Amino acid sequence: MDCIFCQIVAGKVPSEILYQDEEVIAFRDINPQAPTHLIIIPKRHIPSFAHLSEAESPLIGHMVNIANQLAKGEGISGSGYRLAMNCGEEGGQLVPHLHLHLLGGRRLSDKLG
Ligand code: AMP
Ligand code: ZN
Repeated sequence: MDCIFCQIVAGKVPSEILYQDEEVIAFRDINPQAPTHLIIIPKRHIPSFAHLSEAESPLIGHMVNIANQLAKGEGISGSGYRLAMNCGEEGGQLVPHLHLHLLGGRRLSDKLG
């Protein structure tokens, strides 16, 4: 098991976990790009959202719902925030375990890349 996010799920790598349930876990990004930078992942190893079957797509809805709740908890619900998912090398995905970034707490660039 060499996936860093699977190791966080297994408790083998420490992280600041803010939420978890049977399906997903959310923790603070170790290298935050904004005052709030959280990572929401499925507990099960899925390499990217390109690997999601249609039957698994409700998982993304669940992750978005958790992200919205966490944004409220971080106090950025009103000021605004960004949810981002990078997919594959040219999409900027470094960790090959599907994840949703929640970024906020400052004005984010209007550029998408
Ligand atoms: P991506 O480029 O979309 O694959 O983003 C991966 C994110 O995971 C980056 O923002 C990293 O800072 C973050 N990250 C990598 N390792 C850890 C870790 N051990 N704990 C928390 N966040 C991490
Ligand atoms: Zn993994």
